[in-house]
This record gives sequence, structure tokens and C-alpha cells, in this order.
Amino acid sequence: MTFQSKSRDSSEDIQAKRLVIKIGSSTLTDANGKVDAAYIEQLAAQVQELCARGCEVIIVSSAAITAGLEALAMPPKRPESIPILQAAAAVGQLELLRAYARAFEERHIRIGQILLTRFEIENRESYLHARDTLEKLLELGVVPLINENDTVAVDEIRFGDNDTLAAQVAILLKADLVILLSDIEGLYTADPRLDEDAKLLESIGSFTEEIVSSAGEAGTSRGSGGMVTKLEAARMLMAAAIPLVICEGHVPHAVLDAASGKPVGTRFAQGDGRRQAGARKLWLALSGSVKGSVLVDAGAVKALRERGSSLLPVGVGQVEGEFASGQAINIRTADGFLIGRGIVNYSADELRAAAGRKSSDIALDASLHHLANTEVIHRDQLVVF
Ligand code: GLU
Repeated sequence: MTFQSKSRDSSEDIQAKRLVIKIGSSTLTDANGKVDAAYIEQLAAQVQELCARGCEVIIVSSAAITAGLEALAMPPKRPESIPILQAAAAVGQLELLRAYARAFEERHIRIGQILLTRFEIENRESYLHARDTLEKLLELGVVPLINENDTVAVDEIRFGDNDTLAAQVAILLKADLVILLSDIEGLYTADPRLDEDAKLLESIGSFTEEIVSSAGEAGTSRGSGGMVTKLEAARMLMAAAIPLVICEGHVPHAVLDAASGKPVGTRFAQGDGRRQAGARKLWLALSGSVKGSVLVDAGAVKALRERGSSLLPVGVGQVEGEFASGQAINIRTADGFLIGRGIVNYSADELRAAAGRKSSDIALDASLHHLANTEVIHRDQLVVF
């Protein structure tokens, strides 16, 4: 892959100090799945410029599985078999690491590898350890290179996509900006692969149902994300007041342009500062995998959004999925629009029995009265998107 050179004013202001850059598998590899060394070299050049201007950069890199399949002479289409995927990841991570190490060391930038699973993010102690290690690497001037530990991650502890992982890392490190480099230009009004009238949305200030419905479905055979996981990341980041740029990774200087606030791809605003949740609350509500959803009535939506209230059984309608008390669930409007996430204090069965009922009524129910004064999700364990 060659890159057009485009002249750029290197004195432009970089607004973000700490940046998380995530690169998708299809951006990092060629059609056969081979790691694109030239791509990584130009990325290293951009990172070097950012570092020279005092930025701290964290890279979340996909493509271990894709590169591993290529190295093992397997077809690039993702196989279903988990052991094959995990074996491919073990081989491909090394391919990736080699290409990054070569490109960055040529520019005298040291990189350090960290492989994470959801376990380290969900578990408060390992979460804080991961944070300390990453902070130390940044302090030492090292660029952390992060991927999911695909070789050991099983469903329960798997992110499955690096968009969400990048958002988690950014929240963990209180980054100032996340850049998702992808094979698509940004978010469109409709899926551009299906609708030729689809228009690029250059900036998004808040989530609406139109934005969510414009996302289309999952990604390519090489990448696992597509727009759906990018929007999931965008929501989490908005709750954490961290701006996000989604752009085509092959646009020359995409990273530098995104970092200096120039129009490139789709920029998601920082979100409503008044609603920004604290670090612990973000971790609590967003770190676990989501086990189900509750649909809530208009009164509950208003109370959650405008008054920062807890969610009570009386506001709950339908309950979807199976979950236990203490797990993470989504909160949706009656139409299914996602408005929040938090740790539920009821099991799915208890909540089905309590839904729509006042606490005075629940108190009279022999099987539920122990929950009469229990919020479905307490405000301290809930993030409103
Ligand atoms: N962790 C996966 C890999 O390195 C990529 C996940 C994704 O495509 O977002 O292959």
C-alpha cells in the first residue's frame, strides 16, 4: 500500500494530550490477511509527530487473528472454530508485534505489549493494576500496544471486538480522544454499501434513534466490528465525556488531522458534561458484559435523564434476557432505544414479577417483599447515555 503525500502544516494545534488510536483488522492487513508493514510505518510516523508534540499515545491494534490465519496459510475468511481462531491469534500477534516493533524502533519509539480480556476490566483489582501499568508505560515514554488476549479469552471474558476494548482503555486512562481507524469513512445516514444516497455525518452531538438505525450491520470478513460496535464504543465514550473520531484509516494524516480537530470522518462530541459519570461509576456500569435489558416507561426515562434518579420497579415494562442480581443490563425506552446501563439488583425472574408495581404492592407479595425497598438499578450504579 502506498500513501499519497499531502502537505500538512506541522504547527497545527494538537488539542488532545492523551490519545487512544485503534486500528481495525481490514485497515492493517491486505486482502490475503498479511500485515501491511507500510501502513504501520506511516502510522509510526504520525505517532512520532504526536509524541514530539507532547502527546501520549496508546495503540489498540486488531488483526492478530487475520494475520495468524495468513501466516498459517488458512483462508482469510474467519473460521468458526474457537481453537483455530485462538491458535491463529497466538501466531498473528507475533506477526503484528514484529511489524510494530520494526516500524516504531526505526523511529526510536519503544512499544510495550499488553493483552487484555474482559476479566481484567471487570475485576476491580486487575483493572487498577492494568491502569497502573499503562500509566507507568506512558510515564516512561513507551507507546502501549494493546489487543484482546484472544488466545485465552472465552465467551464470558471476551470483548470480541476492539472498538469496545479501545473505549474501555480510554475510560481507564481518562484519555482526551479516541480515534478508530477503519475501512469506512465514518458514520453515514444509511449503510453506504447498500444505499448510494447515504451521506457522511461529520459531527454528532448526541445519540438519536436515527443515528443508531443508520449504523447497518457487522463488518467485513477480516474485521469483526462494523458500525454497531463503533456506536457502542461511542456511547460509552460519550458517557465518559471522551470525544471520538471514526475515520478511514488510509486517509493520509488521518490521525494527525483527527488529533488537531480537522474535519475527518465522523466526530462524536464529548457529550453533555453535566451528565459525565465519575470513574468508579463508569467502571461499575460499563465493565461487565450485558446480560439483558429492561424496557422502561416515559416517566422513568424522564426521571433517569433529567433527575438522575434510580430506576424503580414501577417504571419497568418488559424484561429481556436472563440475568442475576449484580449483573449489568441495558435500559431501553419502550421502543427499544438504549438510554442507559447499570448493575441490576433483581434477577430477571424477580424483575418480571415486580415490573410495573409500586413498592407498597411489592411489600405485600410474599415472594418479593424482601425487595420492596430495593431499586432495580441504583443511581450510583447506573450510567445514562
Ligand atoms: N482481537 C482481534 C484480533 O486481533 C480483533 C477484534 C476486532 O476485529 O475488533 O484479531
